[in-house]
Amino acid sequence: MAKIFCIANQKGGVGKTTTAVNLAAGLAGLKQRVLLVDLDPQGNATMGSGIEKADLKASIYQVLIGMAKAKDCAQRCESSAYDVLPANRDLAGAEIELVDMDARETRLKDALADVSSDYDFILIDCPPALSLLTLNGLCAANGVIVPMQCEYFALEGLSDLVNTIKQVHANLNQDLVIIGLLRVMFDSRMTLQQQVSDQLLEHFGDKVFKTIIPRNVRLAEAPSYGLPGVAFDKSSRGAKAYLEFGAEMIERIKQM
Ligand code: ATP
Ligand code: MG
Repeated sequence: MAKIFCIANQKGGVGKTTTAVNLAAGLAGLKQRVLLVDLDPQGNATMGSGIEKADLKASIYQVLIGMAKAKDCAQRCESSAYDVLPANRDLAGAEIELVDMDARETRLKDALADVSSDYDFILIDCPPALSLLTLNGLCAANGVIVPMQCEYFALEGLSDLVNTIKQVHANLNQDLVIIGLLRVMFDSRMTLQQQVSDQLLEHFGDKVFKTIIPRNVRLAEAPSYGLPGVAFDKSSRGAKAYLEFGAEMIERIKQM
């Protein structure tokens, strides 16, 4: 059975997709069988894996509304040897359609049960909102990985996410835990970032991942080539950090 992790933060542009894509590629490079679920109508994880979102025959949208099976919809990220359940703008409609459906919060969970034995890791890239889509991600997952930039308002936003996770834990998914907070786009020359990082360690202790992802332009360039940063430039600091993070995740799940 796969371990299922949500990459979530309701704040936009904090590095969720970059983390999801590069962790998928990093874990695949460490011989793990990985499925990346794109749960964002923006389809960034899909495109960043080299899959054209405009050409999809079936996407996660059809899976959620029960018109397709996850198995039939998965595509291969050729550069990095993981599978993708792709998304595009169709998914924006799911949000509305799901409201009237049975088991609307657990439709992703139910769909993934079918493919769970084919993988070691399933990673879910969430949209930047605490929406019904994100709720589906949280209900399907064993744990949440929270990428965050070490900026002042980052801590404020965190309490909303932590509260949502607590509620989901209490009402919908007792398995759910925060696996860890991942410091991303980190620039150690900035005093404020260092201070916020210290505060995080103080408040959250070993819930903060040891690995720090630096700000690195190669990670930002990679998606325009349809490649994870880990495949685009293996020797870059960003790629190395995500490989290290993959190894840290493998260690973490041994303790779960
Ligand atoms: P959204 O909320 O819109 O889904 P997101 O949280 O998924 O955004 P990303 O798309 O991963 O965030 O990243 C936002 C931007 O920052 C992108 O342009 C990405 O290439 C860039 N970026 C992410 N991580 C890094 C990094 N470590 N170094 C430099 N640039 C980065
Ligand atoms: Mg994203």
